[in-house]
Amino acid sequence: MTTTQAIAYAMAQGLDRLDAQLLVLFALGRLPLGGTGAERAWLLSHDTDTLDAASQNRFNTALKRRLSGEPFAYITGHQEFFGLDLAVDARVLVPRPDTETLVEWALELLPKDSQARVIDLGTGSGAIALALKQNRPTTQMHALDYSGDALEVAKNNASRLGLDVDFLQGSWLTAVNAVFDLIVSNPPYIANQDAHLEKLRYEPLMALASGADGLDDLRTITLQASTALTHGGWLLLEHGYDQANAVCAFLTHAGFSSVQSRQDLAGIERCSAGQWFNPSPSDSRR
Ligand code: GLN
Repeated sequence: MTTTQAIAYAMAQGLDRLDAQLLVLFALGRLPLGGTGAERAWLLSHDTDTLDAASQNRFNTALKRRLSGEPFAYITGHQEFFGLDLAVDARVLVPRPDTETLVEWALELLPKDSQARVIDLGTGSGAIALALKQNRPTTQMHALDYSGDALEVAKNNASRLGLDVDFLQGSWLTAVNAVFDLIVSNPPYIANQDAHLEKLRYEPLMALASGADGLDDLRTITLQASTALTHGGWLLLEHGYDQANAVCAFLTHAGFSSVQSRQDLAGIERCSAGQWFNPSPSDSRR
């Protein structure tokens, strides 16, 4: 089979063109070298190349996995996030482009030479913490997860990328005895009974589902964060497409100021944030 035939075959089985091209590049051992842009260009000039037996085998196996609904990132073992090449597998959620909105917002809050203490709650592959550390090397970056498996993936990514992040295991902030200038999190936020979960069945349920309304962890984090932020510190949260109002209400009730939301690339209100100011003595007397 030539590369062109392999792409056509994968598309006939139901893959879109990009996935089909990436699958062929993966089978040929050309992923993730150099980024997909350059590699897809390579494909154009090698359209009559034939897949050898080993490549053909890799192609068949990968196609079967992809057609069963397994994320492309688990098949290749890689996912690009905010310009970083992250190693990922079924122990962690696949980092989504939507989450780059959260990273961009956090970077706006952190000056170039910031020494801020930052923590990423539910770090998974380490995506958010590593993207922040890469772009703000002088910050003190911490990343927490409940899952020891996820922490292994994140630690491997940090050492491979040469980024200095302090990793912690625990249930949100209960195990953390420190204060931060910025807390960021992309927690689980899908309702336990949401039909969407079926499509995400290859990813860890623990990283996706969060109670009857999907808001359990967002509620918990908002309440805990107020005791773990410095005066003027920010809490930044990613949430579901229809949860901005609920999360803003949590933030307001917990006493945060400047509560606001931002849209992701698809124009959906995907992140909400608030700034924490310790109550003055006169407030607490009321
Ligand atoms: N945004 C992801 C999805 O709906 C879910 C990520 C999460 O629960 N934090 O596919």
